[in-house]
Amino acid sequence: MTLRYGWCDRILKRLAILGSTGSIGRQTIEVVREFPERFQVTALAAGSNLELLAGQARVLKPQYIALGREDLVPRLRELLGDAKIQILTGLDGLITLATLPEVDQVVTAVVGSLGIRPTLAAINAGKSVALANKETLVAAGSIIMAAAARQKATIIPVDSEHSAVFQCLEGRDRNQVSRILLTASGGPFRSYRPEDLEQVTLKQALNHPNWSMGGKITIDSATMINKGLEIIEAHWLFGMDFHRIAVVLHPESIVHSMIELRDGAILGQMGLCDMRLPIQLALTYPERLENSFPKLDPTQGMELHFEPVNTKLFPAIPLAYQVGKAGGSLPAAFNAANETAVEAFRQGRLKFTGIVRIVSEVIGHHQKENFSANPDLDEILEVDNWARATAGKLIELGR
Ligand code: NDP
Ligand code: MG
Repeated sequence: MTLRYGWCDRILKRLAILGSTGSIGRQTIEVVREFPERFQVTALAAGSNLELLAGQARVLKPQYIALGREDLVPRLRELLGDAKIQILTGLDGLITLATLPEVDQVVTAVVGSLGIRPTLAAINAGKSVALANKETLVAAGSIIMAAAARQKATIIPVDSEHSAVFQCLEGRDRNQVSRILLTASGGPFRSYRPEDLEQVTLKQALNHPNWSMGGKITIDSATMINKGLEIIEAHWLFGMDFHRIAVVLHPESIVHSMIELRDGAILGQMGLCDMRLPIQLALTYPERLENSFPKLDPTQGMELHFEPVNTKLFPAIPLAYQVGKAGGSLPAAFNAANETAVEAFRQGRLKFTGIVRIVSEVIGHHQKENFSANPDLDEILEVDNWARATAGKLIELGR
């Protein structure tokens, strides 16, 4: 449902932004502020960055806030002063915000499999979903897509590659499409030798050449597990078999992804490395609105390069194909093991090369011990917990 201002008859879309203090959340708010006559922020959710959250609330005046932790509520109340905002907490808080009757669209910009239940709840409540949280589709793609089909809901991708594919596919008969070509910058270690990765530091891994993003996805980009997650994300979003999804290195990150048509024509979407573009499209789709953001100008000259992926340097890519093709509960284990391993690397408890090794070991155990070919949501959440615990033990053992 949308509201209309009587006096100017513009459509006002009411948003819940889950993960408002993160990289995607903050850029979503920049887009919202670019079009104040279009959007109203009804609800914000964040983890623990209370100062930023309170600042956002002062400007956007939401009716609801959800906080990750209950013990932070008193401090948030203090920061909010006498603002009349209902504060909820935990996963239940996220789910409540995702299903509020006074919300039209939910932006899922939390990180990790935490997003599964709120995203599913939003779809089941008939909301439009702007999905940044790729881990949700990786872990629970069959359930999310089945719910979306049942509700006739469109999930609009925020991930730049998937937004590009979404735009290239628009209005096109799927039978015309032979392949999806996901582009990948290759991250900071694209030109390393495999043995150089052994000594990589957190600081080096966090130094992405093109994009400024949250910590977890930046590490995922350095291992290229991010592209692995995106292969599985594309499979679910676009209903494409894995053998028809390819990855190509493109260091400039200007061509955000491409599709190949049956006759050999290739269509791509280009733009600057600015997540506000895919975020804006997800919020305004199917409309295109003029904005004040910097724009790519090919008339000034530019060079674009494309290279095959070195799978010896980035074993995460073949691993992701293996996991995606096996399907069932394996992608949930893949994702959760990666979340745990990335956290351990960020805390200095695991080497960089240990991330993909741990993920691979957890997958091996999962295939032998508790793989489920057709898991329901509870099983997926169970596997998620199991994979975190198993990865945690393997990391401890390896120290
Ligand atoms: P960030 O780490 O920057 O942000 C994560 C957000 O989630 C923060 O607002 C954080 O709050 C919030 N959060 C954490 N725990 C909780 C909780 N328990 N309850 C409510 N909110 C919580 O991540 P990004 O913005 O980089 O990424 C978000 C998602 O988008 C990821 O799935 C990522 O893969 C995807 N994505 C990101 C891109 C990017 O450019 N950043 C590009 C494409 C996809 P707080 O900080 O207050 O603790
Ligand atoms: Mg991406």
